[in-house]
Amino acid sequence: MSIPPSTAALPKSVDARKLVQREQHLVGILPQESLERLCAAVESIDGNVRADLEFGRDLQRHQVVSGKLNCSVQLQCQRCLQPVAEEVRAEFRWGIVWSEEQGNALPRDLDPVIQDGDELNLYQVLEDEILLNLPMVAYHEEECIARDRFHCGEETDEAGEQRENPFKVLEQLKGSSNKS
Ligand SMILES: [Zn+2]
Repeated sequence: MSIPPSTAALPKSVDARKLVQREQHLVGILPQESLERLCAAVESIDGNVRADLEFGRDLQRHQVVSGKLNCSVQLQCQRCLQPVAEEVRAEFRWGIVWSEEQGNALPRDLDPVIQDGDELNLYQVLEDEILLNLPMVAYHEEECIARDRFHCGEETDEAGEQRENPFKVLEQLKGSSNKS
């Protein structure tokens, strides 16, 4: 599921209804600076987040987006506390709806995504997908490597620095997307 390289940024928000009508296929990147929650949850983001989105209708005429995305991030190794690279991939099928009620009526193979008003905040919902697919814990696959290897620049991580706990972010996300 590799996504062809494209350096064009995706639109920040779209009217999903129109893109469904046009059966639009969007491929592009999400600028790092627009992903504040992801930045807070990882050590760093390497390169661009790439996403591929196809808008259309399924056989039951639901408005759907079939998408995938991938990005590379550095997480903190839970053994040596140094950065470890992780590839995050996600595949998803959204059912675009305009209310929670409509979302609850969707078949289970569609994840409800609510467009609030005229525009869907694409960056926000894509960032949700990345956060949901971040590994819970990260370790260097083999032995933890000497720390010097990672400190090639000025960028030293102060031990006292408080980071937002990624699990907290995940719990909030999972809690809010649960259907009651
Ligand atoms: Zn390690």
